[in-house]
Formats: sequence, C-alpha cells, structure tokens
Amino acid sequence: MADPLVAYSWQMSQWQDLQRLIDSNRLPHALLLAGPDLIGKLRFAKALAGYLLCESPNKLAACGQCRSCHFQIDANHPDYREICPEEGKRQIGIDQVRSLQSFSAQHAHRDNGRKLVVIHPAEAMNVFTANALLKTLEEPNTGTVLILVSHTSSQLLPTIRSRCVQLRFGVPDATLAQTWLRDYVGDAELAKTLLLAAGGRPLAARQIFDDNGLATRDGYDAGLMAMLNRQKTPLQLVDDLFDQDILQLLDWWCSRLMDLSRHQLAAKPLQAKSWQAFEKLSPKLVMQTLQRGLELRSGFSRGVALNKRLILESLFLDWSALCQSRAASEAS
Ligand SMILES: [Zn+2]
Repeated sequence: MADPLVAYSWQMSQWQDLQRLIDSNRLPHALLLAGPDLIGKLRFAKALAGYLLCESPNKLAACGQCRSCHFQIDANHPDYREICPEEGKRQIGIDQVRSLQSFSAQHAHRDNGRKLVVIHPAEAMNVFTANALLKTLEEPNTGTVLILVSHTSSQLLPTIRSRCVQLRFGVPDATLAQTWLRDYVGDAELAKTLLLAAGGRPLAARQIFDDNGLATRDGYDAGLMAMLNRQKTPLQLVDDLFDQDILQLLDWWCSRLMDLSRHQLAAKPLQAKSWQAFEKLSPKLVMQTLQRGLELRSGFSRGVALNKRLILESLFLDWSALCQSRAASEAS
C-alpha cells in the first residue's frame, strides 16, 4: 500500500496547532483551511482526514498499517467524502452537497470513529449550494468533521465562515519551499527562479516547471514589449494570446506586476529584465493594475462568467495607455 499522506514541511505550525486541539479533545466539527492557491492546502486537508480516520496515528501522520489506512482516502474509504466540482464544471452541484446529509447521518464504520468530508474549493459553492451545506453545518453530527479548503475565503458566505474554525496558510517559508522544489527539479537556482515566477507558491512553481512555463512567460513578455515598441497593437497582442489558458496568463501578469512593484518600492531586482521598461510608471497605478489582475484571476478561478477577449483587450489597452502617458510626460 502507499505511504500515508503527510503535510508539507512548510505546514508544520498549522499541523501542530491542530494537534493541540485534537490532543485536548477540542477539534471543531468544521474547519476552514484558507490561503492562496497552489501552496498545498488540499494535501494538508487529506493528510488530516487520513490522520483523523486512522486507528493508531503517530504525531505526524496516519500509521499506514491499520484497517482504516488500508482504505485509501483517495480511493474508497467508506467514512470519507470529497466534494469538488465535477469534471468540466466550475461549480459544486447542489446534489453533491445534499448527499452529505445522508452520509453524516450514518454511523461511522468503526465504533466511535469519525467521518471526514473535504470540500474544495469552498468558493465553488453558489448561494444555494452553500445554504444546503449550512444545514449540515448547523446540525453537527457527532463524529463528522468537515474540512473546507478555500483560496478566496473572503468570498464565502459569512454564515459559512462563522461556523468554521479558520486555519490560515500563507506563502511558505522560502527556504523550505526551495529545498522541496530543488529535490523535484534537481537544481537550486532553477528552483529559486521558478518560485519567484510563482510568487513563492511551491505547487504553482512545480506546475510552471512541468509545463515549461518559464519559456512561455518569456514569450508573453516579448509580446508585451512588441506592443510597447509599437510593433504590435494591443488588439493584435490579444489575438496572439487568445488561445492561451487565461489563468496562466493572469498568473504571469500578476506575478510580473508584483515583481515590478517590489522593484519600485523596495529596489528588488527584476526577474524579467525587459520589465525595466516599466520601472518609471507610477507605483500607485502599477499597484492598481495588479489589484485588478488579482481580482480577475480570482473571478476566473471561481468560474465567474467573464468575457476573456474583452478582459484581455481592456488590460492591454489600459497598460498601453499608461505607458504612453508616461512617455508623453517624460517628453514634455
Ligand atoms: Zn492507520
């Protein structure tokens, strides 16, 4: 059988916080794991679920030997449910959530055992689905523990948030993240570059590596520079990039803007040297553009119906206008 899942090295303080609650019998029946995406919250949720179902866990993980551990939580554990959007869908269906009521009403397969539900991402529930979940949250069934995973917890219904004990996850400690990624990519410098490109999020950095994303991002930069140098109009740039994955584009856009902002405000070196062309733009406007990019990214990742073409057009038209007005003020 496979080894039990363990939390990532950068999640030990959250793990210890929970351990204290478990040891003192104060584990809440609903937990909300909140923080940016692609830092490993889901893995933490599954490691915790396996741990809580295990018959003889040690301090850090499930034992991997007991009857419960022999059922893999990712496969067929009878006391475990995972709710996420079905394939091809962005939202969690109301029937998926309703099915939890009968699940939590049943007894666990082990005497006095727990039942575990992981819902991810929690923001993929609309108002109706969230209200259906509230029913389950409001009638806590002894032994059922709900773990909600959320990348944008501010967008959850306040009534959902208030019923959960929140556990915050930030961008991990850089050294731990670099060590982990270095073991995967086999090179310390590359690991550093990838993490910078991913805003410090280790799983995002691994994804960039797997997708050869550094080269793709260089290509986006080249397009942007062509627009700046008037070899391309903003609308031509949109045509060029239209087939690209919007989340990948917005990831690139936001991480470059974040980098530019750090460069302007804290004199940090730029990852993409070509972005030096933008260093004299107003830091305030750069921040505003970044804020907008982050909001759009969050909208797309939650499955909000947004017009990709219109959004890309307005992003690049506005950026181009910003650069031109700066150039004009320099010339005068
Ligand atoms: Zn076990």
